[in-house]
Amino acid sequence: MKIIIVGGVAGGASCAARLRRLDEKAEILMVERGPYVSYANCGLPYHVGGVIEREASLLVANEQTFRAQFAIDVRTGCEAIEISPTKKTVQLRDVASGEVTTHSYDKLVLSPGAASVRPPLPGIDLPGIFHVRTVPDAREIREWVERGSAFLAGLHRYSGFQTVRPKPRAVVIGGGFIGLEMVENLVHCGFEVTLVEMLDQVLPVIDPEHARVVEAHLKRHGVRLALNDGVAGFKQAANGAIDVETKSGKTYPADVVILALGVRPDTTLAKMAGLEIGERGGIRVDEQMRTSGPDIFAVGDAVEVKDFVTGQWSLIPLAGPANRQGRIAADVIAGRDSRFRGTQGTSIVGLFGAAIAWTGVSEKVLNRIGDTDYEKIYLYPNAHAGYYPGAKPIAMKVIFRKSDGRLLGAQALGEDGVDKRISVLAAMLQMGATIYDLEEAELCYAPQFGSAKDPVNFAGMVAADVLRSDMPLSHWNGAKTGFLLDVREPMELAVEKVPEALNIPLGQLRGRLAELPRDREIHVICRSGQRAYYATRILLQNGFNAKTISGGMLSLAHNYLFETNEEGG
Ligand SMILES: Cc1cc2nc3c(=O)[nH]c(=O)nc-3n(C[C@H](O)[C@H](O)[C@H](O)COP(=O)(O)OP(=O)(O)OC[C@H]3O[C@@H](n4cnc5c(N)ncnc54)[C@H](O)[C@@H]3O)c2cc1C
Repeated sequence: MKIIIVGGVAGGASCAARLRRLDEKAEILMVERGPYVSYANCGLPYHVGGVIEREASLLVANEQTFRAQFAIDVRTGCEAIEISPTKKTVQLRDVASGEVTTHSYDKLVLSPGAASVRPPLPGIDLPGIFHVRTVPDAREIREWVERGSAFLAGLHRYSGFQTVRPKPRAVVIGGGFIGLEMVENLVHCGFEVTLVEMLDQVLPVIDPEHARVVEAHLKRHGVRLALNDGVAGFKQAANGAIDVETKSGKTYPADVVILALGVRPDTTLAKMAGLEIGERGGIRVDEQMRTSGPDIFAVGDAVEVKDFVTGQWSLIPLAGPANRQGRIAADVIAGRDSRFRGTQGTSIVGLFGAAIAWTGVSEKVLNRIGDTDYEKIYLYPNAHAGYYPGAKPIAMKVIFRKSDGRLLGAQALGEDGVDKRISVLAAMLQMGATIYDLEEAELCYAPQFGSAKDPVNFAGMVAADVLRSDMPLSHWNGAKTGFLLDVREPMELAVEKVPEALNIPLGQLRGRLAELPRDREIHVICRSGQRAYYATRILLQNGFNAKTISGGMLSLAHNYLFETNEEGG
């Protein structure tokens, strides 16, 4: 059997290697139009920032490795330019010589990835404007940055009396995860960075109240945010810099500009071959990665996937799914019955010592599709036991089905333990777990690593309390019409207070019940929700209509940040 694989990075390379492990006799040809196969594009921002110093570290395997270890014919600088599904042939063009040859296949796998979005804006081709997709892209940025630095350093020496070296300026356009990784790395390189984002939040996949915390974190690290503002064009400034002009009429001068506007599935070949393209613009495949064309498979960023939670078609360009899909396509070609389960979009971004991670569906998406059968909780558990030095809180939002408790999604941010919790929740979500399963999850614990009630258990317990009606829940936006009861200590109120709330510290509550209305819904506040829950239990058992405000003052802080941001502060 002869298999041709188009694209030699995440999906293509994992498909090729798996195929060989399953079929020693198969003839496998993998073509890649770029100069490298199997490279770590996820590491590119860190190579630009100098964290990964050597370019060679990004090259996981090369043509020789594939030949020697897997007996796979790998050709770099070789582009597939046309497919004939009826004749079962592919035309390959040697990029250097232009020579075109025709090759027949029994099975064809497309893993061409996605192309960076590059809108036709005035000045977009000016030198100094880059995107980050390949190793050569990263090399070009590094060279440009180094040249720029040398130029600025030269100025510094020339002036003789100048003591403050001017800071180079960077503008990153697009606040998705690649944009944020570039922001962090450029700050590390000494740049003054402005992030321009058309939407009103960074990381559009997470909910706005968590994005607000990320934005505050960016500002604390000196990043200037220009949200709600799209780029209108670029102009060459007289001093060699680039003026980035936005739709609101602002101008941001930059020594380097990074375009991180997202990616579009590369469907050029698939369209030419008449393969079905889905409603989101990716190649349409079934659970076994089969396209509409006979004996043609497609994997990775180029395909549409079913969202695991909503069941809707979506585009989720991530390395994990691309690798798994490559492996599944290989399994199916080798005669096995493997199936792709869909994608949850599980992701993580590191940012100035903190991490933001998420899995499953966001509240925004549920609202967009009109799904109201959900509840959400906010919680702020420590990443490890509070008594062990260095405990840091994790801000968590967990979303679950009201009707049956099924876990739907989670978002977390903090400086420690975020990856572990979201990875556990992601695995459980994929297994169809409910919040009652989270209560019972048995996770490793010693004080430096977690708590006897791990944040995952804690989330399950809080959510289960809500569904068992032990803790009727409210949120700040719904609490405005009710009676507000604050059960914190007076000392805490000196720091931050809700003016409309009656303060009765938890320890005094049983003796002061007469001060509370029996004909109104009482919304109970504390710092994080825990004491409010204890108070809610007291009130419910004394015949009051009480609800705990989820996340207490800490979740209100999200809202405060929100308001600050809207005012441009
Ligand atoms: C800067 C950056 C950081 C990232 N960080 C993360 C991360 O931290 N976590 C994560 O999960 N994901 C991350 N990703 C996304 C991840 O890299 C992709 O989801 C994954 O590489 C997709 O695999 P793929 O095989 O579909 O496409 P790619 O890995 O992009 O490979 C496609 C290859 O096909 C080649 N090709 C296209 N057309 C042809 C043709 N006609 N003939 C021959 N060759 C062709 C292309 O040159 C390309 O090399 C990142 C991506 C980038 C760019």
